[in-house]
Amino acid sequence: MEGVGHCQRCRTLCEDPLCPQCDDPRRDDSVLCVVEGPLDVFAVEQTGYRGRYFVLKGHLSPLDGLGPEAIGIPELLARINEAAFSEIILATNPTVEGEATAHYIAQMLAGHGLSLTRIAHGVPLGGELEMVDGGTLAHALSGRRPMGT
Ligand SMILES: [Zn+2]
Repeated sequence: MEGVGHCQRCRTLCEDPLCPQCDDPRRDDSVLCVVEGPLDVFAVEQTGYRGRYFVLKGHLSPLDGLGPEAIGIPELLARINEAAFSEIILATNPTVEGEATAHYIAQMLAGHGLSLTRIAHGVPLGGELEMVDGGTLAHALSGRRPMGT
């Protein structure tokens, strides 16, 4: 892990102050995709997604003492407040913890005037994004739905 730090903007692992996705001026600044870990960025990249990312440190897990601060929710809020996104895609894993994390974020962002979407089925329940093939994940991304809070 020597020399590896975190991107100042999306918190993914990288060696430079900004990761390639944050450093690229041609990407879409209106969409933010929230994932649970750096490997999920690679999975979502394969779908052709060209918006921005925010990388959490896993998911909420109260039994393990992992609350909002532990997984980077305050940094996510700061990132959203400093930018001008119109849509936030909650692409946490379709596990019980991932769903709970997505709902927590959606409730926190309610009233911010943002379109909140959740990746659709196609990703098997209980699966992990990084294990899903690109075609399935692309389908799940294109079929994303507004989240009810
Ligand atoms: Zn970044």
